[in-house]
Amino acid sequence: MNVLITGGAGYIGSHAVKILLEREYNVSVIDNLSTGYIDSVDKRAKFYNVDVRDKSSVIKVLLDDHINAVIHFAAFSLVGESMKVPLKYYDNNVQGTKVLLEAMSEANVKHIVFSSSAAVYGEKTVMPITEDTLEIPTNAYGETKLAMEKMMKWADIAHGIKYIALRYFNVAGAFHTGEIGESHNPETHLIPLILQVPLGKRNNISIFGDDYDTPDGTCIRDYIHIEDLIEAHILAMLKVIDTNKSDIFNLGSGAGFSVLEMIEASRKVSEHPIKAIVTGRRAGDPARLIASSEKAERELKWIKKYNDVSSIIASAWKFHQLHKEGFSNENK
Ligand code: UDP
Repeated sequence: MNVLITGGAGYIGSHAVKILLEREYNVSVIDNLSTGYIDSVDKRAKFYNVDVRDKSSVIKVLLDDHINAVIHFAAFSLVGESMKVPLKYYDNNVQGTKVLLEAMSEANVKHIVFSSSAAVYGEKTVMPITEDTLEIPTNAYGETKLAMEKMMKWADIAHGIKYIALRYFNVAGAFHTGEIGESHNPETHLIPLILQVPLGKRNNISIFGDDYDTPDGTCIRDYIHIEDLIEAHILAMLKVIDTNKSDIFNLGSGAGFSVLEMIEASRKVSEHPIKAIVTGRRAGDPARLIASSEKAERELKWIKKYNDVSSIIASAWKFHQLHKEGFSNENK
């Protein structure tokens, strides 16, 4: 089976590429390398330096490589940036998805798995969050992901493109060999930032607020390992092809961990004291985000391998020790 991965040079996309190749799928990748790294793309994949908004190039790849299904990751994903330059997010995320759907329709490719986000839900008080929770995004990034989902719904009705949208909570960790992992520039995510302290790249980790209404006052998030996340994409791809029915699933662990708990777990994994200082709250951070993944477990038969945050952090620690400077695009 031939699969096209958009955004295959990004953190999540590059793991999808590697794991699909290991399962003996033929993998084609398009990525414009605006935030991704060519170094992270497995050499066995066919790589195209193509922007998802470039319709004729996308159609060419779909036809030349006889693509059967698409997994769509190409998008900007920084909440803070999305509040400063929302139109950049609409252009890349919403316009990019529009062009991709047009290209799929014209090339007669009818199945897509789509990377959505917990950010579509916004601030919620009732946990865990299920798929029928009302979506009220509180930032431009989440709003673009919801717009992309809605576009897929109408493209399904009009053009018969069947989709599964996967709403991720906090994706973390690295491929078990340490070959690839999470590398952003600038880095904004909690685990890589914590691990920069034992790596000697920063003196301390900032805790963004300790006055939230949570047991230790710091924000609680639901962390899911990247390999478990990709497994769910493969199951979703097979399901949407098999059933020819569109659907939406949350992907999380059902358990929440506070920022302080994550720092403490990282101290144990790295055997480093990791200095932490409390700073002010980060705008737009909900106190608590925990997913119900019961639907994915039941209907996709999704079974997670990483059920504790220490093993997730340990995989990230292995990657960061092997790739102290992250990835580069020097060879592009
Ligand atoms: N966080 C923090 N210090 C940092 C980075 C993040 O305290 O340097 C907190 C952030 O406020 C949130 C949690 O860690 O509560 C996870 O943040 P991240 O950016 O990794 O993911 P998000 O939940 O925003 O998608």
